[in-house]
Amino acid sequence: MKKATKIGVLAMAVLMIFSLVGCSSGTTSTSDTKKYVIATDTTFKPFEFENDKGERVGIDIDLLAAIAADQGFEYELKAVGFDAALGEVTSGQSDGMIAGMSITDVRKETFDFSDPYFDSGVVMAVSANDNTIKAYSDLAGKKVAVKNGTEGATFAESIKAQYGFETVSFPDSSNMYEDVKAGNSAALFEDYPVVGDAIASGVPLKIIGEMEKGSSYGFAVKKGQNAELIKMFNAGLANVKASGKYQEILDTYIQK
Ligand code: GLN
Repeated sequence: MKKATKIGVLAMAVLMIFSLVGCSSGTTSTSDTKKYVIATDTTFKPFEFENDKGERVGIDIDLLAAIAADQGFEYELKAVGFDAALGEVTSGQSDGMIAGMSITDVRKETFDFSDPYFDSGVVMAVSANDNTIKAYSDLAGKKVAVKNGTEGATFAESIKAQYGFETVSFPDSSNMYEDVKAGNSAALFEDYPVVGDAIASGVPLKIIGEMEKGSSYGFAVKKGQNAELIKMFNAGLANVKASGKYQEILDTYIQK
């Protein structure tokens, strides 16, 4: 083998190793720009959903786009569902996630969060025509729908023994609403702005009682990884708040 060819083979081998390493992390990169992979939920309206044209939009989606434009980073969005997004980030398949994700102490053990960008909390909702569930104590012996991996599910689990109900888990919000509408589950626990939006959009549900557990949403990365992404998110968030773009995004998606 000629020397030049040998070098060529060696260079190829090195390149292959680099591309293999590249594949094993969530980051995809072209020759000069790093492209972050960001996971999100499927339907968590008004934070992420598909509009009539089949485009993925919402507060999270537009906020991320505005922050990326402000900070000059590129990303690819992966709409996999909330629970799956948690897995994507912890396994390193995605670099970060934005999915109406509540900043909690338990999650801080596995994730690093950005500054909070939206205040939220969990509420109970029942079918619009239900007159039997007026308090948690009316849930005794009933089924309650929850969404895998969420704060709503954690809250329901924490009170189910006390109030004597059973939980049924769903991978997404839409199926959870359907189960309550169909009367299989007597109630559900979900984030206030999301149930509020569903009700305003005509989903036949109603909220019972007060917002239970306050929390704020944050952008997240795996603990100890992609620190520069959190830095850019925070810097970009401050800039889009100052420019009025953040308020413009909220005004676009929050139904009055
Ligand atoms: N805010 C809730 C949580 O973090 C729900 C998020 C979601 O369903 N996308 O658990």
